[in-house]
Parts: sequence; C-alpha cells; structure tokens
Amino acid sequence: MSHPAAPDTVAYRHLRGEAFTADEALTAQERDALRERIRRLLAERDAVLVAHYYTDAELQRLADETGGCVADSLEMARFGAEHPASTLAVAGVRFMGETAKVLTPGKRVLMPELEATCSLDLGCPADEFAAFCDEHPDRTVVVYANTSAAVKARADWVVTSSIAVDVVRHLHRRGERILWAPDKHLGEYIRRETGADMRLWDGSCIVHEEFRAAELAELRRRHPEARVLVHPESPAAVIEQADVVGSTSQLLRAVVELDAPSFIVATDAGIFHKMHEAAPGKTLLEAPTGGRSATCRSCAHCPWMAMNGLRSLAAALERSAPEVEVDPATAAGARRSLQRMMDFAAERRAAVGGDA
Ligand code: SF4
Repeated sequence: MSHPAAPDTVAYRHLRGEAFTADEALTAQERDALRERIRRLLAERDAVLVAHYYTDAELQRLADETGGCVADSLEMARFGAEHPASTLAVAGVRFMGETAKVLTPGKRVLMPELEATCSLDLGCPADEFAAFCDEHPDRTVVVYANTSAAVKARADWVVTSSIAVDVVRHLHRRGERILWAPDKHLGEYIRRETGADMRLWDGSCIVHEEFRAAELAELRRRHPEARVLVHPESPAAVIEQADVVGSTSQLLRAVVELDAPSFIVATDAGIFHKMHEAAPGKTLLEAPTGGRSATCRSCAHCPWMAMNGLRSLAAALERSAPEVEVDPATAAGARRSLQRMMDFAAERRAAVGGDA
C-alpha cells in the first residue's frame, strides 16, 4: 500500500500488522501474554470470538486463529447464531452485540467495551424515530443494521449494506413506499439504484462522510490502473466514481476477484488487514479524506471500533462482563424485523445457488 502524503497514518500501521489505539502502549511481551490469556479464557468460558472487519488486526487474527469469525455485521450475526458456543465475545460496536443477543437470547454476549457505539445509532434515538414513523404510517419502515434494538423493534425490516438494495427493490416491486433510517447517503444510493419512493432520516457515518470526491478524482488520475471500491455510506460524489459499490464483504471479494493490480478503497481502514491477507500481491490505496487545505485529516478509522483491544477483551472474558442485555419485549420486536432480512437472504441464496 502506498500513500505518499501520509506515510504513517493509522491505516499504514494497521497494514503492517501493528496494533493501535486501544493497545498502543503495550510491549510485544505484553501482547503475547494477552493473546495467550484470551485463548485460555475463550476455552474456559466456552466462548467464541466474533470480530468485525473494522476492528484491530490483532483481534481479527485472534478470531481466525481460535475458530471464531471476522465478518460484516450480517455474517457476524449469522455465525454467532449458528455456533454452538454458549458465550459470544463480540468485538465491534454496541449494535452488533445487541443484534447477537436479540438473535441468540439464550447465549451470554460479552463485549470488550459497551461504550463503543456508532454515529448512525447515536443519531437515531428510538423516541424521535418512533415519531418519524408515526408521521408516515403508510410507509414500510426499513432500517439499517447500525441502529439500536429499540429502533429495529419499530421497523418492518432491518437490512445490512450487503442486502439493502435487494430488499428495497423487492418492496418497491410490490408497490410499497419506504421510510428509511438512519444513513442518508446509503438511503440516497438505494433510492438511485431502485427508483423506490423513499423518505430518509438525516443520519451519517462520521468515517465514510469524510471521503472527498475532488481528491479522489485527483488520486484516480495519478493511478489510472487502480479500480475504485466504495462503501455506500460515502457521499454520492464519491460513490459516482466507484467501479464497485458494496458492503465490506463485497469490497473484500472485489479485491480478490477483479483483475487489477491496485485498488483505491473508500471504507474504514480496518478492512486493509483482510484485503492484504486475501490479495497480498495487490496494492491498496486509501481514498483521500479531509479537504485540500485541511490541517487535520481524518484517519478513516472508526473511533468506536478502535475502543476494542486485547486488554479490554481479556478483561471482559476474565470478569464475564460487560454483558449485553436487551429488554425481552424490545428483543422480540427486533428479532422479527431481523429475521425477515435473514429469511430473505436465505431464500435469495437458495435461488441463486450460492452466496447472497
Ligand atoms: S464506521 Fe461508521 S457506520 Fe461503522 S460503526 Fe463506525 S461510525 Fe458506525
């Protein structure tokens, strides 16, 4: 990976396999000891580690090495629900832990840090969202997975970025009008792709919103051989320049399958660990963030994902806390809208005879 303007960004360090943020001050010996302790505790607690692509490379490696999984939020939920372990250790942000608890209420769900949240979740409080729904009783309510269990419980459907376009297209063909929350950029992208009638909540991801169209165009001119991969939480002017628009899993697959030597990637820098592992011969370039004259560039890494670390994971397993709890009535409502998505995904996989 090359990025001449910022040779020691978080993403660079991530790509070199160095831990950062939560575990930055640890020595190599301390890291080794923590990794060993986590392996032992996972076995003792009958726990499996489920990590998101945006978490620290150390956690992703541990999840892979210990029989857990590294995935996007849909696959994390599916893996956790199907795995026989009685405890799920979820490295990610709070809505992911809540989703795991909603889908597997009989399991203990631990997270390294319950304060790890998401700007989309924070920007869509359940009471304000309920009022928004009440104003539009004739619309089918579709929410992104990056929401609280209470918001999911108010929705008809939950979708992840990997399946959002397909679900809304399906509803549009049935003549349904959509009320969408919370990510406005993803909502606009779905509307453009499907032509559906959509009312959008005004939320955004603080990481993806920082990608800049003019600077991206400049980088593309300097690297005409590179393909551009963009997550649809990014602004429309960035999405317009993409060769592939997709979820983290879809972008990861594109790096492996597309016949190109290099890629400009507009999503959280945490994904570079898996991309580099899956396609080691290919060059990965960070999509530019911040303005031309900005003195402080965004690091393109989610501050809440970065709260997950070896220390906090070991402590959570040691103490069996913090544990994610969801009120049973809220969980039942959220499960209904989540299950609709999972059934839709399963039907679609069956119809195409493979991965959805
Ligand atoms: S990267 Fe954005 S969407 Fe993902 S958890 Fe962080 S703030 Fe939320």
